[in-house]
This record gives sequence, structure tokens and C-alpha cells, in this order.
Amino acid sequence: MPDTNQLIDRLPADAAQSLLAASLQIDLEFNQVIAEAGAPIFQVLFPTTAIISVMAEVHGHKPLEMSMIGHEGMLGASLALGVDRHPMQAVVQSSGAALQVSATRFRRLLTNSPALKSIVDRYLFVRAEQLAQNAACNAFHEVSARLARWLLTMDDRAHGQPLMLTHLFLANMLGVRRSAVTIAAGKLQKKQFICYARGRIQVLSRSGLESVACDCYPATLAAYQRQFGLEITDKKSP
Ligand SMILES: [Zn+2]
Repeated sequence: MPDTNQLIDRLPADAAQSLLAASLQIDLEFNQVIAEAGAPIFQVLFPTTAIISVMAEVHGHKPLEMSMIGHEGMLGASLALGVDRHPMQAVVQSSGAALQVSATRFRRLLTNSPALKSIVDRYLFVRAEQLAQNAACNAFHEVSARLARWLLTMDDRAHGQPLMLTHLFLANMLGVRRSAVTIAAGKLQKKQFICYARGRIQVLSRSGLESVACDCYPATLAAYQRQFGLEITDKKSP
């Protein structure tokens, strides 16, 4: 299980050491609401094994997932822009560990380390690309392709753990009816790309999922790689 965060890994040794010295490892619990939209940013989080979903809230609808943050990213990056409020709600999607740095110390680190500022700025750019891609995906792509993309995105950050997800939960993540997820998941199971039982999904074939996922999946990976020269996952497709 990796216990690092890829953004911290990209820092020069002295900047990484300063950040790690200012950080505290914490455990995040499934479904924990870390922040509400508009709330002040008191801490930034660099997940190592935890996964955080960033959710948009629209009146009359369930919150819809806008992006996912795992070991490749961070929560609270807008501090680099001088913005000290969370733009959206943040909820723990998968329990695990994260490194926490207080906003005050993080601001100081940003001021003292151009390398850290550059990494966070580039991460913000990647997030903007991802949000645009996700908006287009939600508008244009079919549920089965979006579901395959979502499962791959989650699996990239899950460190080999099975995904604990009900159809209702998936439907809320994708902003569709539960019946649509049931049909789409049934097709993926029939093709033996996933094994689904009692709210637990095991990815059996990443290459199978990649064959049905929309182009948004490789596009999002490429956006990250362009900035950081790294893949989000180091998995080899079975
Ligand atoms: Zn798509």
C-alpha cells in the first residue's frame, strides 16, 4: 500500500521535507463530510490511501460528483490562488489515510517554496481540465461508458481494495436513476469485467472496462500526465 502522495513525490527533496514536517497523518472515514461548499479552508489534505469526492449541490437534486481526489491530488489547492473557501462539498468516498497540513502553515510553505507553488498551480490547471471534461461527459456520454470510466477512476486510487458501492450510491455519483446503473453494471458483469455482489465490486478486467469506457477516461489521465509526467496509477491492465 503506498503511503505517499504523488504531488508531494514530485517536489524537490527539501520542499517535500518541509511539507512532511508540517503535516499530520490522519484517518478519514467513509461518508465523512470534510467540508461544505463555501466553508473556510482550515486544512489542506493530501490523500495517500483515502479517496475524496468533490460534490456539486443543486437545489432539488442529490449532490453530484464533480471530481475524485486520491493519492494523485489534494484538497484545498485554491489557497494557492488566495481563495480560502471550499468551492464545493467534499466527502470521503473510500476510507483511508491522508496527510493534513493547516491552512496557515500551507500558505507559509507556498510563500517560501516556488516549487510547491508551481506544483499546486499545475494541479489546479489539471482540476480545471478534469471539471470541463466531466461536464461534457455528463452531458454527452451513455451511462454504461460513464460507469466504466468511474470504476476505472476509482480503481486507480483504490490500491487493489474492492470497491464498496451500492447501485443507489453509484446512481447518485453519476446523477442517473438506480435502474440505469443496474442495467449498465449487469452488462459489465456479464462480460466478466467486474464481479458484483452485496455492494462490493471487484474489477476483474481493467482492459475490458477500458474498452467500454468513454474517451474521457484516457483524456483525464493524459491531462494529469502532461503536467506531472506521471500516470495516476501504476497498475498493469490484466
Ligand atoms: Zn465521458
